[in-house]
Amino acid sequence: MAFGWIEEQARGRHRAGLVRRLSPRPAASSLLDLASNDYLGLARHPEVTEGAARAARTWGGGATGSRLVTGTTELHAELERELAAFCGFEAALVFSSGYAANLAAVTALGPHGSLVVSDAGNHASLIDGCRLARGETQVVGHADPQAVRKALATHEGTAIVVSDTVFSVDGDRAPLVRLAEACRERGAGLVVDDAHGLGVLGDGGRGAAQATGLAGAPDVVATATLSKSLGSQGGVVLGPAPVIDHLVNAARTFIFDTGLAPAAAGAALAALRLLGREPERAARAREVAGELHARLTASGLEAVRPDAAVVSVRAPSPEQAVRWAADCRTAGLAVGCFRPPSVPDGISRLRLTARADLSGAEIARAVRVIGETRPEPA
Ligand code: PMP
Repeated sequence: MAFGWIEEQARGRHRAGLVRRLSPRPAASSLLDLASNDYLGLARHPEVTEGAARAARTWGGGATGSRLVTGTTELHAELERELAAFCGFEAALVFSSGYAANLAAVTALGPHGSLVVSDAGNHASLIDGCRLARGETQVVGHADPQAVRKALATHEGTAIVVSDTVFSVDGDRAPLVRLAEACRERGAGLVVDDAHGLGVLGDGGRGAAQATGLAGAPDVVATATLSKSLGSQGGVVLGPAPVIDHLVNAARTFIFDTGLAPAAAGAALAALRLLGREPERAARAREVAGELHARLTASGLEAVRPDAAVVSVRAPSPEQAVRWAADCRTAGLAVGCFRPPSVPDGISRLRLTARADLSGAEIARAVRVIGETRPEPA
């Protein structure tokens, strides 16, 4: 049987209680949503959905081709200009996803003969970028600039350091300033994934690079997704113009992928402009995260102090994490559930999103449900 081994694997997953299932989300739901990445509550904002609809009417349902053939519209160029200006970088390039943007940045900036130093807590898309890059990868301890220094010292020649700005699992922040110092000592480039920082960190949500004074530096590149704070879909790489030109010419996930759909570009542009007019949304997301954390901790739950809008709550075991999330759902609350193999440290968690549009009453209700459904310690 060609695929017999798959059934064997499936049985193993079943035994361990780690089967993943897709559950379609209804268009209108009574669930209180702390599971999505819609940090600023913009995915369904009328200006954002209208931005998508208008773009589709003007440019069509799809991009019709790769960016270098027919897939670049004036809308793409406008979005790239405004993203670069908003985040404080010289240039920007949008991709069909944040995943594709990360693969592009790491592969194109980590060529044969180079060194790629990667934080052990990085997102899967950065890890896959390292796997695809022709350079040699060294994985270093989490948020450890000294380990980065040591790794860089083993190599002569071109090198980059890649790190999430806000780590997806625990919501903690990378020591960006110290990483940049370590890079500068060795003439290395710094590539940061700001998927969870754009729209939340920095002045009015301009991102982690702006927050740390690194935006626009000649040796710093940032990537981000358009699918979280901006409520759309797609990804972006921001950096010096020569780096962006290099990606246009060398990044395979740019060259061989159909361009970002116009509707997604239109939605992202509308969200970006809205955020420019309503910068308080970013601070509110951080404030909600702080309130969630304070209330969870006051209820005796073990939550990591949030550095952005991701709030992580420890669960005693993977099975209990799955049951806890399911019990929350039954009680009307959607939360994320992270467990092995998605989390390499083996620690399972509920993952909560601090959305800027959550009210005080909703925060209180969420914490009450989480407390009431809490499993007994293992
Ligand atoms: N980087 C990080 C840190 C992420 O959390 C995600 C999304 N889960 C991505 C990259 C990928 O972005 P996208 O979903 O747009 O492909």
